[in-house]
This record gives sequence, structure tokens and C-alpha cells, in this order.
Amino acid sequence: MLAANFAVVWPYLNMALQVAILFIVIYWGLFYLRGTRAANVLAGIVIALLVLTLVTDVLKFAVLSELLDGLWTVFPIAIVVMFHPELRRAFAQIGSSNPFSRKQRREETISEVVTAVSNMSSSRTGALIVFQRQIGMRAIISSGIRLDSRVNHKLLETIFSKNTALHDGGVTIENDKIIAAHCIYPLSQNYEIAPSLGTRHRAALGISEETDAVAVVVSEEKGAISIACRGNIIQNISAEKLSRFLKALLAPEQQSAINDIFRRIDEETQTQNAGSNV
Ligand code: ATP
Ligand code: MG
Repeated sequence: MLAANFAVVWPYLNMALQVAILFIVIYWGLFYLRGTRAANVLAGIVIALLVLTLVTDVLKFAVLSELLDGLWTVFPIAIVVMFHPELRRAFAQIGSSNPFSRKQRREETISEVVTAVSNMSSSRTGALIVFQRQIGMRAIISSGIRLDSRVNHKLLETIFSKNTALHDGGVTIENDKIIAAHCIYPLSQNYEIAPSLGTRHRAALGISEETDAVAVVVSEEKGAISIACRGNIIQNISAEKLSRFLKALLAPEQQSAINDIFRRIDEETQTQNAGSNV
């Protein structure tokens, strides 16, 4: 009885499965190619082939039609050859997106940032590093200078060292990559902020009020390290504490509990809220 029912349902299920698999393959393909030059090239080729096919069908061009049939057959192979670098990157990304390597990458990022911040604190180099989390900041990133680089302490220190073209503004980190430098963040509108806090600290607070980002500041005047999140700033923390806080705040598995973590950190450290005096 059950087998008979299954035999009836199977053709539909089979069809649905095929459609689902095709959908997933096309979705992932487009997802990895989105915004790249390859996506534009691919779109151009598909449109040109479609238009040509349509025209030859309507006007009944036999020779062209034969040729185009042949082209459609080799099209998948041509895609593999043309987009070999993009496809390789996409597969590498799929391979590296397992939770273990993500955690490892996150720890490396934090370690590089803490080293850079610690060195810049000693040399009194002003810096502002913003970790983008769930909420995107496309407009801010495009206001800066676009980079796409692994997080490295020497690179961060070079960016922020005085007299470089990129040292003004902040660096945005997204998915363990330095995505842009020279970014201008919104200044906090909190009128209770201590007047002693200048624009760098206000920008850190501002971006933490408007998004769920975590911002780290090194003061040029004092060399002090601060961290801002959800409209709060904790000032004058050690590099060791910064490392601990970043690990807690940016751990992939703890995305939802950010408020609790920050409250705990706030209680633990002898801290001030943005509203209190510094
Ligand atoms: P510090 O303790 O380092 O002096 P501060 O909080 O007193 O910091 P300012 O002295 O005003 O701040 O720091 C000015 C620097 O802050 C600018 O040179 C620029 O690099 C950075 N900055 C100012 N406004 C912004 C902004 N909106 N977004 C990002 N960076 C900013
Ligand atoms: Mg200042």
C-alpha cells in the first residue's frame, strides 16, 4: 500500500528534487559571482546568446541556428574555462566555511588586531578599527578606500602611521578581512558624552549606536585603548582585556548574546558608560 502510494508520488518528488537541486546550484553560483566582473561578463554572454538564438529562430537562419546549437552545447565547458579562478575561489570558500576554520580565522584576526593596537598604543598612534557584524555599512565603506586584505598587524600599523594617505578615519573589518580604510563613521549624537572625548571616540560610539558593530580606538593623545559596542564605551583597557573582550563579542556562536557579554564586561572592568565623566 505504502509502496504503491510512493510510486504515485515519486515522479513529482523526483521533479521537485531536480528543481530544488538546480535552484541551489544556480543560487550559489550567482551568490558567489555577485558584484564581480565575472557576473557582468556572464550576463553579457547569456544575453547575447539568447538574443541571437531568438533572432535566428524567428528569421529561420539555418546555418546560424546550427552554429548556435553547438555553442549552447559547449557553453557549460566554456564557463568552467573562463571562470576558473572565480569557481576555484567559490569552492575554496565553501571548503573553508566550516565552523572550525571560521573560529580559527576569527582568532587569528583578533590576535593580529590586538598586536597592532598594543603596538600603536605604545607608540601613541591614533587608530580606529571597526568590526562589522550583522548590520552592513555599505555607504560608509564606499566613502573610504576599498581594500580587500587579510588582517595583519603590520598592515594595520602602516595604515594608521602618521603621514600616510590612509591614516585618517577608520578601518572596517568584515568577515576577517580589512575591507576598507579611511572610513568616516557617523559621530555619536549622545549629548551626555564627556567633552573630553574627541571625534575619534565619538565616531567609535556613533557607529556602535547605529549598527551592531564593535569599535576599537587607540588614543593618539594618551595611547589608551577603548572599545565601543551598542552605544557604550569602555575606556583604558589593557591589550590582554581587549583580546578577551573581542573574543567574547565576536565569537561566531555568540552573535545573539552581545548585550549580555558587554554588560558583563562593563561590570567586570572599572568602567564608565558613555554618559559618565571620563
Ligand atoms: P585622540 O585621543 O586620538 O586625540 P579624540 O577622540 O580626541 O582622539 P580627535 O583628536 O578629534 O579625537 O581625533 C581626530 C582624528 O579622529 C581624525 O584625524 C580622524 O582620523 C579621526 N576621526 C575624526 N572623525 C572621524 C569620523 N567621523 N570617522 C572616523 N574617524 C574620524
Ligand atoms: Mg584628540
